[in-house]
Amino acid sequence: MATQAGPTRSAAGNSVGAIAPCPRCGQPMDPGVLGAESLVGGAKWMRGRSRLSLGGEGLVSPDAWGNVYFDGYRCRQCRLLILGY
Ligand SMILES: [Zn+2]
Repeated sequence: MATQAGPTRSAAGNSVGAIAPCPRCGQPMDPGVLGAESLVGGAKWMRGRSRLSLGGEGLVSPDAWGNVYFDGYRCRQCRLLILGY
């Protein structure tokens, strides 16, 4: 008896979505995750670099291990990241 696989033939299990082209060079970007350690306050968006973690708009809170993660895309050529939060 040959058991038929049935109609459950889904192609994509992990849908990252369409690969975004790099806004600088137009090449397809690599999907991935940016991970960073941020024990205090999580990841923040600031208008300039600051050693003080005061101010800034909190984007992502750290998990129990003090890590923050951003799903996004990377262009190796331009060293450009496009991140979602
Ligand atoms: Zn690029």
